[in-house]
Amino acid sequence: MREPAPVYLQRFARFADLQGFTRETALPAEAGIELWTRPPAEEDAPVIFLSGGIHGDEPCGPEALLRFVAEWKFSGAAEWILAPLLNPTGFEPGTRGNDAGIDLNRDFLRRACGETKALVDWWQRRPRPCHLHFSLHEDWEADGFYLYEIDTSGRGETLSPLILDSVSAVAPLQRNGPVDGHALAAPGMIVHDAVADEPEGWPEAIWLARTWPLQSYTFEAPGQLPEETRVESLLAALRGALGGLR
Ligand SMILES: [Zn+2]
Repeated sequence: MREPAPVYLQRFARFADLQGFTRETALPAEAGIELWTRPPAEEDAPVIFLSGGIHGDEPCGPEALLRFVAEWKFSGAAEWILAPLLNPTGFEPGTRGNDAGIDLNRDFLRRACGETKALVDWWQRRPRPCHLHFSLHEDWEADGFYLYEIDTSGRGETLSPLILDSVSAVAPLQRNGPVDGHALAAPGMIVHDAVADEPEGWPEAIWLARTWPLQSYTFEAPGQLPEETRVESLLAALRGALGGLR
């Protein structure tokens, strides 16, 4: 068992407050989805969204986001949106799905769950789109780090080499494909279309990439390695991706 979700969220809030973030509760409040936002200096700055904890049995995402919000030198060069714990009822018992047993990261087309509905409604009420998305996961079968890249931005630039270079200093990259039926474009790198593997089972990243032109990176920490290495690999991925943004 992990700590209760409210205890984690309290720890997160302490650092987010200090870093100038504002807490928002996505409705319905019973869904327990909290987001922290930090405004940009200029109105046309990119909107960067970091999400974690959508699978309750992958605790390293929330932990990496907690360390990220504690350490990062945030600037107004971007509008920041953090959702560190998207599956609050699965976190303490360590279940992949929520307390109804539903995998939230396959529910973004149907939105049958309060959690996914709350998050999507929150985004749809906002005046601005998402430009850059990072989703933090763990793959229990993997002995190397890998990522999924989805790009509907049309910008033709990729952050994957920066991310994977940074990760490779702390953890091995996945070298043996295919992974879940996806070939590796390079060690640790899967390029994915904005089409869900299961037609009705949309992940968060697919919903975002089909709603706005954006770049999305889903990180998969290697579950076969120690917890501290997994957390550090996710943090290194964020540092690699965002280090150039000042
Ligand atoms: Zn996951």
